[in-house]
Amino acid sequence: MRLWKDWVEAQPQVVPMLVESIKKQRLAHAYLFEGQAGSGTMDLAMLLAKRFLCENSQGEDPCLRCVDCTRIDTGNHPDLHRIFPDGQSIKREQIDYLQKEFSYRGMESRKKVYIVFDADKMTSTAANTLLKFLEEPQGETLAMLITEQASNVLPTIRSRSQHLRFQPPLKEEIIHQLVEHGIEQKHSHFLAELTENKEMAIRLIEDDWSFQARSVVLQLMYELYTRPDQATITLAEKWLPLMKERIHQEMGLEMMILWLRDLLYIKVEKQGELVYSDFYERYKELSLSTSQRLISLSLTKVMEAKSQLSANVAIQLVMERLLFTIQEG
Ligand SMILES: [Zn+2]
Repeated sequence: MRLWKDWVEAQPQVVPMLVESIKKQRLAHAYLFEGQAGSGTMDLAMLLAKRFLCENSQGEDPCLRCVDCTRIDTGNHPDLHRIFPDGQSIKREQIDYLQKEFSYRGMESRKKVYIVFDADKMTSTAANTLLKFLEEPQGETLAMLITEQASNVLPTIRSRSQHLRFQPPLKEEIIHQLVEHGIEQKHSHFLAELTENKEMAIRLIEDDWSFQARSVVLQLMYELYTRPDQATITLAEKWLPLMKERIHQEMGLEMMILWLRDLLYIKVEKQGELVYSDFYERYKELSLSTSQRLISLSLTKVMEAKSQLSANVAIQLVMERLLFTIQEG
């Protein structure tokens, strides 16, 4: 489990603030964590829950060994409640159940935590029930509400919780999460550039599309600079058949931009990690035979192609024109 120090870089405002409150024993009764998927809202809520319930902790981190810590890991700690949407929404009965659980256990000395995931999905009756609960915290209670869009949470709930805004996930953070998910480093880097979060990247991997697209883009771009006639064939036979949907076409163009950016980095000897690092030798070779002017022009043209696509120009036409202008240089 990643501890507070491991999250500072990704969340440089939220983490020091929470750590300070833990150390001073001044945690709020209720927090509203707002941040997009992959930003760490869920992980940090779990970390805070663990630290709050751990009886053995020293400093800001939980001990990770005690009964409380291990029960949280196995998902059966009696004083930690997690609420997820039941279908499309979080319903009033779910909040009622939570309330009942809390009063039933009734042992005033025990600490209790509840985490509401997708808090914006509460129905208005659920939200109003929760509101009463927030207003009358029993004993030592810690509530954490998690959302991607705080403006969709009832204003009265927002005003009764401490609102923490998480930064969007860093590229490095997405890469780290993908590698943890068992994805090779070189693919992780590429996927992190193309997508906004881990979930989207994983979806791409699962249908295998991204790997095929990656190799087709590498082939197309290399041919475009070395054997232009062949590039036209690769476009028709491989690129276009693979990029059927609009989202794929946009990503296909984005992949070309990343490829050109890599080539430009090599050409101007700029230090930086390559997106297609396995292509390094070929970039080297190409950078000797290609002018910086042509690479920059190509970049501009691919970006123009992206806007043509948004203006609903047919993809085949967009791509044929694009290849033609780059070949003409
Ligand atoms: Zn512990």
